[in-house]
Amino acid sequence: MKEYRLPAADATQLNDLLTQVQTCTKDFLGYPVSKDFDYSPLLPFLQYPLNNLGDPFVSSTYTVGSREMEKFVVEFFARLFRAPADDWWGYVTNGGSEGNLYGLYLARELYPKGMVYYSEATHYSVQKNLHLLNMPGIIIRTLPNGEIDYEDLADTMRMNRHLPAIMLANIGTTMTEARDDVGRIKGILKDLAIRHHYIHADGALSGSYSAFLDPRPAFDFADGADSIAISGHKFIGSPIPCGVVVAKKSNRDRIARSVAYIGSMDTTITGSRNGHSPLFLWYALKSLGLAGLKERARHSLSIAAYAVARLNENGIPAWRNPNSITVVFPDPAGSIRRKWQLASESGWSHIICMPNVSKEQIDEFVAMMVAEEMAV
Ligand SMILES: *Cc1c(COP(=O)(O)O)cnc(C)c1O
Repeated sequence: MKEYRLPAADATQLNDLLTQVQTCTKDFLGYPVSKDFDYSPLLPFLQYPLNNLGDPFVSSTYTVGSREMEKFVVEFFARLFRAPADDWWGYVTNGGSEGNLYGLYLARELYPKGMVYYSEATHYSVQKNLHLLNMPGIIIRTLPNGEIDYEDLADTMRMNRHLPAIMLANIGTTMTEARDDVGRIKGILKDLAIRHHYIHADGALSGSYSAFLDPRPAFDFADGADSIAISGHKFIGSPIPCGVVVAKKSNRDRIARSVAYIGSMDTTITGSRNGHSPLFLWYALKSLGLAGLKERARHSLSIAAYAVARLNENGIPAWRNPNSITVVFPDPAGSIRRKWQLASESGWSHIICMPNVSKEQIDEFVAMMVAEEMAV
């Protein structure tokens, strides 16, 4: 094999980057990204140009890929999300945003004259997706916890009941991890007798573990969703951003087009598709199993409860939505935000208690927050 040799200065730069990445990963509470994975047994695959070109369920002339693993990952989530046994399909995407784009694309093909409804707490990628797809949308108010305001939704849909309704439901908003209730949304549609409708669930973070909660939130196919997107690098964890989208096969069939050059079907957004990400997800699902995933959720929820309690004890008005791992509190000082890489919006900030977060980290964080309060 040909050897690549780095000039000394570039080798130093690469080493410095590694040190920086290692340090920044340690103090990281502000974004929903798991960091506790170990995919080292997969390292040999970095030697190969894995590409799952085309539809995962239709073999391709290009065979250096991980289609079998990808199919397992899609089926795993189709079952977890209670998709109809004979009507599901999906693929491993480049992330939650692409999964949302895909769901909206299917909805538009089904209802070209549809109106899209989504709450003001919706992820920024959705507005861009609507722009790309040239779909009209109406922004609905949110309740104080970040959940969609069902009254405003019902009123708005009523005024547009002559149009097919396309609902983008948040299964965990980005800032407060509030879940829109798909069952309640279905109820509103039924009440207004809007028969032509499509519900896409954006479950980027929460969608991956909502099925393990008791009570189980209304978010999946059995509750009325037509497609669900999750991110793979959030709750599960992956060195490369990725995601999974699950949709109804009958809807996917409407857009399928056979392409001779790849010997597969052109049913995905991109042509070439990363063949490594399905391997990471497959490896995680196989080694953790349902029990392991459930345990990760339990751990995260207990750490989130602990964080709220510790912050409240110290006079900081932190809160979280029921059964969520995102802890919200008033924006702290810039030094704290920088150290822990905390996002902030409209005076609020949050930490996300991902499965790798420990009580010790929360203690260290709370101590810094308290010291800051005293200094003010
Ligand atoms: C993170 C997130 C997304 C985008 O997912 P990516 O994997 O970053 O593309 C979409 N919606 C919500 C609610 C998110 O939290």
